Formats: sequence, structure tokens, C-alpha cells
Amino acid sequence: MRIARFTTGNDPHYALVQQEGDRTFLAVLGGDPLYMPAMPTGERIELGDGVRLLAPVIPRSKVVCVGKNYADHAAEMGGEVPTSPLLFLKPNTAVVGPDDPVILPHWSQEVSYEAELAVVISKVCKDVTPESALSYVLGYTVANDVTARDAQRTDGQWARAKGFDTSLPLGPWIDTDLDPEDVAVRSRVNGQLKQDGRTADLVFDIPFLISYISEAMTLLPGDVILTGTPAGVGLVEHGDRMEVEVEGIGTMSNPVFRRD
Ligand code: ZN
Repeated sequence: MRIARFTTGNDPHYALVQQEGDRTFLAVLGGDPLYMPAMPTGERIELGDGVRLLAPVIPRSKVVCVGKNYADHAAEMGGEVPTSPLLFLKPNTAVVGPDDPVILPHWSQEVSYEAELAVVISKVCKDVTPESALSYVLGYTVANDVTARDAQRTDGQWARAKGFDTSLPLGPWIDTDLDPEDVAVRSRVNGQLKQDGRTADLVFDIPFLISYISEAMTLLPGDVILTGTPAGVGLVEHGDRMEVEVEGIGTMSNPVFRRD
């Protein structure tokens, strides 16, 4: 099942995504499938003119992110793989959806993309074991952990570098059936491949991460975990278009803007 959130100009609605050849249809749902069973209303619309996908989830309370969770990325950042997960937070105000612009902050000259597999939590999750962790997952989506590298270096804490408005494109939908153990995680800038990793290379796997995070903070339904980015990060500028892809879920694209 694929769950999307969309607008036709009015209030957002949820929908199940139905692919027919190269056409995409949305079977509209009543209510929010994070908090109630998915109930189709019977209305079905085609994705296209006047129908815009939104971030499939607005994180309920937080986005928990994992730094340096691929060895090749830890190396390119000039560091070693951490001995335990390196956690940081992004605020839910950073979230934007597919095709929404990422606005470069005026205080940064070094903004980078980071393609990541994102985990969407389905129920209250505290002190869970790795063995039970996946039963707290609704599904998976694609994230771009946009980062101001210069602020990341100078600030010490990463709240500004990774928490600014528009720094978290999420989408295009939540896939509830994905097996996340070994799927490709890729990014492109202006069509050119930049990152091409596999989740099989995660230093800490998803069940371990959920368990580890839940021993520190309660995860709520709709919270999101970003699992880290593979090697190949680089800078973007005004006018670029970033694309992030997770095999088995789909691709999300966002233009980059700098305001004068
Ligand atoms: Zn990241």
C-alpha cells in the first residue's frame, strides 16, 4: 500500500496511490490513516494538473536523524564511523513536499543534499527491542536531509545547519510494504547521479536504530527517523534541481532557490 497526501487547492487529503501504466491515480481516503484505518471514500482522481502531492506525513513531534550511518559517507566527511548512533533532530517546521522549493538560507554559502531512507512510526514506541521494532513502523518514504555545511562546521550543535525551514523534503508517498534491508538510495542534481548507496551498508540497521532511539525518547505515531546518507554529498546553488530516490518507493524532486 502507498499512502500519499495531496491538495487540489483546498484542505489536504490522504489517498492510496494506484499505478496504472504510467498514469497515477489517487483513491481518496477519509481522515488520517496514521490515526485510523484507511477508509476509501470512493472518490478517485488522477495525479496531474491541479493535483499536487504534499509531504506524506507532518512529523507529529520530531524527526530523529542519524549521522554518519554509512561508512563511505563518514569517510568523506573526514571522520570515522561512530561506535553508537549519532543522533540529532530536525524540527517538523523544516518539512516540505515533492516539488516544493528548498530555500537556501542567506547565512549559508554551502548547502548540500543528503538522500536518505525515512521510517514513519505508527504507534507509541518506548524501550522496544530490535526484535519487536519493525511492528512500530507504518512504512517508509524518501527524505532529503538538506544541510548547511558551513553552519554545521561553525556551530558545533547542528540545530541551525539541519533545522532551517525547507531543509527536509519528504515524499512522494509512504510505502507500507517495502523491505528496507537492501534497497538503493540515490541522489541526482540536474539529472546527474551524485549518490548511489544501498541500505545493506547501513552501519546501524533500522531495527537497532528504532530500539536505540526509543531508549532515549518516546516515538509517537507520525514521528520520522532519517537513517543516514551514503557517500557523494555535494553543494547546490540557486536554479539547481535535486532528486532523491529510494528503490522500491520512488523519486522526489525539489528545485533550489536563493532569495536576493
Ligand atoms: Zn543526514
